[in-house]
Amino acid sequence: MHLDFASEYARRSDDEIRLLIKDRHDLVDEARDALDVEVHKRRSDGFQPYVKEPEEPRVHVEEDDEGNKVVVYSRELIFPKICPRCLSHEAESIVKISCASASSRGLVLAFDFVSGLWAYLFFRYPVPFCRSCATSVRVRRWTEMALILIAIAGSLYAAIHFHLSALVLLLVLIGLFAVGGLLWKLLDLSKRWPPEGIEILSKWSVRDRRLVFANPAYEKAFVALNKGTARRE
Ligand SMILES: [Zn+2]
Repeated sequence: MHLDFASEYARRSDDEIRLLIKDRHDLVDEARDALDVEVHKRRSDGFQPYVKEPEEPRVHVEEDDEGNKVVVYSRELIFPKICPRCLSHEAESIVKISCASASSRGLVLAFDFVSGLWAYLFFRYPVPFCRSCATSVRVRRWTEMALILIAIAGSLYAAIHFHLSALVLLLVLIGLFAVGGLLWKLLDLSKRWPPEGIEILSKWSVRDRRLVFANPAYEKAFVALNKGTARRE
């Protein structure tokens, strides 16, 4: 029986031809030649012998009960030129937001300190804010910093003055932090100086960044802006 490869391949769909190309080296000479002719013919009509695998998206939005978490498979982040807190388009004040890296949540203080310092030194992202939100974010940070310094200085002073042991010093410090946190809540200082509205986390991964946004409209703008580029390795 004579097999007419040319007319056989002409009947096949593009996908079938692509499968045949993959096994081209297994074909008999006659079939291979006929296949090459068919591929050449289809190419002139715009046929793509190899279909590119779709690239994995750079941005992924994870939804859970607490809200959305935007996962970016890259360390490079692009922030829209609108204020993340009030959505003002006059966002010309840059506030650097550090990426919160892996932490033991206070269990191993030294580890958290080093990890936090590392993120502060090497992974800070410049984010455009409007002028008034930028000021309020900075005042909030200064207030927090001042309260922490006062607590540390106060307990050190007490330790020297009253000859406290290291353990008591630590307890005093923890007590002061608890009181400070309570006062912050009671006086509703978060309302007076709301947080940045952006949380950048790295978890344990070096490459991915996880972001949590307070404002859904800002999140949308961020996702749209970061979608464009391909996943970076
Ligand atoms: Zn603003």
